[in-house]
Amino acid sequence: MFKLGLTGGIGSGKTYVANLLAGWGASVIDTDLIAHTLTAPEGLAIAPIREAFGSELIKPDGALDRARMRELVFSAPVMRSTLEGILHPLIAQEVFVQAKAATGLYAVFVVPLLVESGRWRDRIDRLCVVDCEEETQIERVHARSGIPADTIRRIMAAQATRAERLAAADDIIVNSANTSLAELDKQVLVLHEGWCNLSISG
Ligand code: ATP
Repeated sequence: MFKLGLTGGIGSGKTYVANLLAGWGASVIDTDLIAHTLTAPEGLAIAPIREAFGSELIKPDGALDRARMRELVFSAPVMRSTLEGILHPLIAQEVFVQAKAATGLYAVFVVPLLVESGRWRDRIDRLCVVDCEEETQIERVHARSGIPADTIRRIMAAQATRAERLAAADDIIVNSANTSLAELDKQVLVLHEGWCNLSISG
């Protein structure tokens, strides 16, 4: 099956694009969604996180406290690698299970840190980057989840730069401040048709 990697900075529009592709028949495997499920109440990652960090990172409802986690991973790099050591193998396992079960026109792997991780490049046939200006990323994320702008800037500083992502891309989706959703849909449809053709010609 043809394997597309879909990435982009925080708030660039990855989830929106992935939802379009899913609606048009692609099998979407979203590593962020998998991470959320693993860290929801009774998720598979909760017990090992509790074991490693005590209850400090777990909210009263039993889910991972994402705001505390964000603070911690920036202030304590060792804790960051402990947390990644717990999450990454569990995510990889679930990606494998979902990829094996995929029956769509082609597979889309949504990986926020694909360019940064290195490991992913060999596992995909083509990389698509959703691109937008940094100020637009900040506005969208703030509007969506109320995360303060300086926290968003810190998250962005820890990610690949816009130029690094663009340099790694085979396909680019332009999702700027002035890109309407109708224009976005049109760009994605043209690319989707190309990926379907690549999938068929295999
Ligand atoms: P994250 O990395 O934070 O998960 P993401 O890359 O998946 O973000 P989305 O969740 O798809 O990004 O988009 C961020 C927000 O911006 C959403 O609320 C989305 O609906 C909105 N958005 C994205 N593109 C546009 C656009 N062209 N016009 C208007 N709103 C948009």
